[in-house]
Amino acid sequence: MTDYLQEARALFLFNQSMRRDFHIHPELGFKEIRTGGIVAKELESLGLEVTKGVGKTGVVGLLEGSKPGPTLLIRFDMDALPIVEETGAEYASQNNGVMHACGHDGHTAIGLTVARMLHNHRADLAGTIKFCFQPSEEGFNDEECGGNEMMIRDGVLEGPKVDQTLTMHLWNEKPLGWVGAAGGPVMAGAELFTVKLTGKGGHGAVPHLTIDPIVAAAQVVTALQTITSRNVAPLESAVVSVTTIQSGTAFNVIPQEAVLTGTIRTFDLGVRQTVLERFEQIVHGVAEALGCQVQIDVKRVTPAVINNDDLAAKVQGIARRLLPDLDLETAGYLTMGAEDMAFMHEKVPGCYFFIGSNNKEKHLDYGHHHPKFDFDEEALVRGAALMAAAAADILSG
Ligand SMILES: [Zn+2]
Ligand SMILES: [Zn+2]
Repeated sequence: MTDYLQEARALFLFNQSMRRDFHIHPELGFKEIRTGGIVAKELESLGLEVTKGVGKTGVVGLLEGSKPGPTLLIRFDMDALPIVEETGAEYASQNNGVMHACGHDGHTAIGLTVARMLHNHRADLAGTIKFCFQPSEEGFNDEECGGNEMMIRDGVLEGPKVDQTLTMHLWNEKPLGWVGAAGGPVMAGAELFTVKLTGKGGHGAVPHLTIDPIVAAAQVVTALQTITSRNVAPLESAVVSVTTIQSGTAFNVIPQEAVLTGTIRTFDLGVRQTVLERFEQIVHGVAEALGCQVQIDVKRVTPAVINNDDLAAKVQGIARRLLPDLDLETAGYLTMGAEDMAFMHEKVPGCYFFIGSNNKEKHLDYGHHHPKFDFDEEALVRGAALMAAAAADILSG
């Protein structure tokens, strides 16, 4: 059996030098021109069929196995963040104000390393690997959607049709050695809502001639608290937070309008449905009872990332066989962070797993998006080994 850990170790210097190069030259979402160019060149040098410009700056490479079989998409995100780096590392960002503070430099380097490894083993693969280097995971960056949706719109899940996906994230909340691979929900779905209540303005001293949207807004906020306390089962999780209220201009004027915004977070699709239904009913019911007109806009930021149980079990099995000193978490690891890979998970079964990457002794334990964020590069080896081995296993025929 192929020892993917040993092969990943043999490619460590390549992986590290790629990672450091991307770290020195970070690019924001949908601006990954240099990064995408290097990725495309590397994939082309292996003889892969490469398509550029999928989702603006995204790059896709196709690796055909020697036998027919399913198509597995493996996703690596490439974008950096608008943060001034404070690591003081020798490979610190030279693009001032932009920093790889989430580890996507590592993901891109791991992706290229995995491409080399699987290319060497293409004779063993039954099926096709679709290497998906995604732009703009961190946000929309003035476009109408993020990188994952943009790649789906450009047809990344077709031609050949994708049957399954795998994704990994270096995870600095956990130490090197830890791996999180669980079935079911792993990252929360997020919605952003805006509620506009329209009443009838007037003098503050003659409220009976007005319809006061502030009173209605206050009742709405209070009533919304019953969704999580009275509609969602005690062992399920959900968040409904009203985070802004805007209304009024003067102490003696009852305003015409009140606008509330906030966020809803859920893991389970059924819970999400319940929360959204109750949200509409409560806002309409309460505000209309008080005479206001109601306008509700709920925008989905990302769905929850839900892992396929069978794929998660496969990744767990591979991790157990492959990685020494493994601390494997197979259930119960949930994060309220959002991730746009959720869009692909909605369409195709996938497994999104986490590779512990912090090292307290080396002071490499700042959280993601911190200006001093950096990870232990040994995680590059473990990430590449596990991704390559899991992909090869899925396409083992
Ligand atoms: Zn991030
Ligand atoms: Zn990230």
